[in-house]
Amino acid sequence: MTETSTTPVTILGLGAMGRALASTFRAAGLPTTVWNRSPGKAADLIAAGATSAPTVEQAIGPGGPIIAVLLDHASVHATLDPVADQMTGRQLINLTSTAPAESRELAAWAAAHGIDYLDGGIMAVPSMIGAPGAAILYSGSRQVFETRRGILELLAAAEYFGDDAGFASTYDFALLATMYAMFGGFLHGAALMRSVGVSAAEFGQRAAAWVTAMTQSLPHQGRVIDTGDYTDPVQSIAFHKSAIDAINRASHDAGIASDFVAPLRTLLDRQVADGHGALGFERTFEELH
Ligand code: NDP
Repeated sequence: MTETSTTPVTILGLGAMGRALASTFRAAGLPTTVWNRSPGKAADLIAAGATSAPTVEQAIGPGGPIIAVLLDHASVHATLDPVADQMTGRQLINLTSTAPAESRELAAWAAAHGIDYLDGGIMAVPSMIGAPGAAILYSGSRQVFETRRGILELLAAAEYFGDDAGFASTYDFALLATMYAMFGGFLHGAALMRSVGVSAAEFGQRAAAWVTAMTQSLPHQGRVIDTGDYTDPVQSIAFHKSAIDAINRASHDAGIASDFVAPLRTLLDRQVADGHGALGFERTFEELH
């Protein structure tokens, strides 16, 4: 079975992301029914041709895939538990950010109610939905992914990672962990640059170019980690400890808290103390287990 532009879709949750998904479906002409816990968020979607349902039960009535894009795991249960029996035989696509164990729990909950469950991790902000650069990672029901792939690709590039419903979420959070460390480093750098009169906006321009250049080394670092051989470093742990110690002194002198730098400093200090200073920076990975 493949869907066409006549496939009805239901969106549960009209936060920033749910609204972006719903308006993208409407722009593609899909019959779109929306529901939100608090009323009053559907006016522009109704103007674009969506149907606003006053209850979850009515929202899932049209019969197509049900897409949940709610705040968190608890809100998915709060919304769907009361209608679980009406969802038997239906397809549920959960794009709410849930931790891997929560995604697996939802898959088991769905299976117990005869619901076909696909989990998704959205690698985009709302303004990117429907545009190049957006991606959504999926795992769980292959049947749901394959039958709904056409409409899912209206939202973002769609990639499927197998039947473990927690896999996509794990990938999502691994990428977010990478992003947050980068954002934290940027805030620290911006604070340092303000101490010498450079605006954060100006620093942002230069930092973007620097981070882009540095990220080119990630695949190489990944290969080193996978071999577990850290004996031929590009730069050693001792080298990086020296740099981090200097950043720490610079921050102290500028009156800036070192909270973003401190965790890495701790990991490097520990490895030097344990005699690993001559090994490659990537060995820090081993300290995380
Ligand atoms: P918002 O905070 O804008 O919206 C949250 C939505 O969840 C609202 O519709 C809210 O309803 C609803 N909600 C909260 N608690 C409950 C509850 N107990 N019962 C029913 N509904 C509830 O978040 P977003 O739309 O931005 O994000 C939605 C999901 O998408 C999140 O899991 C988020 O992590 C994920 N996501 C968002 C991205 C983004 O950039 N925004 C990027 C990637 C993923 P109400 O209006 O009544 O409060």
